[in-house]
Amino acid sequence: LLVDKKSGEDIKVKVGDFSIGDNEKIIISGPCSVENYETMAQITKELKNAGVHMLRGGAFKPRTSPYDFQGLEFQGLKILKQVGNEFSMPVVSEIMDTKDLDEALKYIDVIQIGSRNMYNYSLLKEVGKLKVPVLLKRGMSATIAEWLYAAEYIMVEGNTNVILCERGIRTFETYTRNTLDLNAIAVIRKKYRLPVIVDPSHGTGHRELVEHMSMAAIAAGAHGLIIESHIEPEKAISDSKQTISIESLERIIKKVKKLEEIL
Ligand code: PEP
Ligand code: MN
Repeated sequence: LLVDKKSGEDIKVKVGDFSIGDNEKIIISGPCSVENYETMAQITKELKNAGVHMLRGGAFKPRTSPYDFQGLEFQGLKILKQVGNEFSMPVVSEIMDTKDLDEALKYIDVIQIGSRNMYNYSLLKEVGKLKVPVLLKRGMSATIAEWLYAAEYIMVEGNTNVILCERGIRTFETYTRNTLDLNAIAVIRKKYRLPVIVDPSHGTGHRELVEHMSMAAIAAGAHGLIIESHIEPEKAISDSKQTISIESLERIIKKVKKLEEIL
């Protein structure tokens, strides 16, 4: 398989000035959903000061309930890109449907394939035909092997700019939203060529656990983190319970830098 270390050098994914898969740990942060221009701009200003590398914000939202906020769609992507440009930060956002890909490429630097779409093979094939970096989240019930096959679907079409993202899996445990599978990080670092980052927000579902699991992820070998943050976490329009403040994020970034020195 193309994902195997036997097939070639480890892959480093370049996004703007950053390289995911190198020694420097890449921090991606921002709200679960793009809410409006003002809030997004305020959040981004603080994130930039905190040392965040890339900006996240959902515009096409795969919500469990059809009655929940579904995202601002292209209007949201325009806001995200505008703010990203103002603060010179690449932007990451999810696309759920192949029909939106062409238009989305005008605004997105890294296309996120969400957990629910990891098995959407037509979407995987289409992003495989592009050059744009892809953040491939693990399906919430996917084995490591199934997740790697999903990456293979993208790579075999020609796009090797794939970043894996462990975001927790469903287990019998219900205290946490998902069970963050740290084993997966070690497995990928040992045997596979793709860079891997961790999402401790969806991986726990609780903001008070995000710092602990961020440290664990970096210690296990993750190349970076994607963390949901907001200037007013309690007021975040989606995933508020797992969204952290900018102050908490600053503390995490300081600790990640310390770990970076010893790893
Ligand atoms: C998200 O990043 O907001 C998201 C919906 O993530 P996941 O696909 O991992 O649930
Ligand atoms: Mn979310």
